[in-house]
Amino acid sequence: MPGFRFKEEVLAPAMHGCAFRVSKGDRFQIIDVKGQQVGDFIAFKADDRSEYFSPTHTVTQNWSIALKPGSVLASNKRNNLMTIIDDTVGYHDIIVPCCDTETYITRYGIHDHRSCLENMKEGLAAIGLADWEPHGENAWNVFMNTRIEPDGKMVYLQSTHGPGSTITIEALEDLVCALSACPQDQTPINGPECTEMLVRIWESE
Ligand SMILES: [Zn+2]
Repeated sequence: MPGFRFKEEVLAPAMHGCAFRVSKGDRFQIIDVKGQQVGDFIAFKADDRSEYFSPTHTVTQNWSIALKPGSVLASNKRNNLMTIIDDTVGYHDIIVPCCDTETYITRYGIHDHRSCLENMKEGLAAIGLADWEPHGENAWNVFMNTRIEPDGKMVYLQSTHGPGSTITIEALEDLVCALSACPQDQTPINGPECTEMLVRIWESE
């Protein structure tokens, strides 16, 4: 990445999560190593966890539900926390909350299934932030292939993106972020199997 030097790499193993810190001006890449995998993403301001990335505020900030390079990722206080630099996939979902324990209980009767919300909590705990509470409605479903039909019906599609698919994001503030390699294996949204996701962080030279 011209003008940037590699800083750190963090792995969200298959069906698990991770958390990481980025500084203002850093760029980070969310990489789907094997393809067809969805990653659920949240972020807080590092010095004020009451301000966090908000999908609904992001929609109004961009007047769009289809984020693309140049789009901003906004906070619940209407500040821009990040901007999208590059995206090799072109579809993401900013409508639905991430999966949680209740998703698997109420839809499938499975009481011990992993979930994005718990994955992100585990990731935050692993960097010493066990008391930072993520909320599913504040997650952005990166690389999730959904579509709104003309009648408003929402359609979930199997992801089609290939190995090494990447979105590159620039931090406009110091942030704490968490990413879940979505463990949804009851629908085809993650392709034939749930796989890992990688985060690469770059700092300005
Ligand atoms: Zn999920």
